Amino acid sequence: MTYHCKIRPSKYDRVVAKIDTDLFGEFIPLEHLWVTFDRQSMDKDRMRPWFLSPLSDGECVSSNGFTPFALHNLDSFPISDIRAQRGESYYEEHRVVYICLDKGKGYAIVQGSEYYEVTFTYIDDTIHDILCNCYCEGHCKHEYAVLL
Ligand SMILES: [Zn+2]
Repeated sequence: MTYHCKIRPSKYDRVVAKIDTDLFGEFIPLEHLWVTFDRQSMDKDRMRPWFLSPLSDGECVSSNGFTPFALHNLDSFPISDIRAQRGESYYEEHRVVYICLDKGKGYAIVQGSEYYEVTFTYIDDTIHDILCNCYCEGHCKHEYAVLL
């Protein structure tokens, strides 16, 4: 069946997530998450349009230097206490709706006032860089939620 409709960009995620439900491979329930180890099941390029409208600004670039840190030592992540607390709430509210790690390159989608994309590099328990496409100056609650 072919269906034509007009979609407001702000409602895009709700509509597309209901329509595009073809998945492949095996998913394992883990607490509130569905986990797969099959890269073909749902890669980020397929997942992305479930949440982000086609009018998204795309990737951000940052000129700030970043000092790599061990993920098990999250205290060394340079973020204010208030942002870290909000990030913790986001994590507990299950607002990290998608996370994918492929050969050290990480990608996540976090639900805030809208959906934001977080990219990071994770190799040998070390975060080498992390960047969110929200308009926060410096590191944000979305990044912190993903790190948790
Ligand atoms: Zn952010």
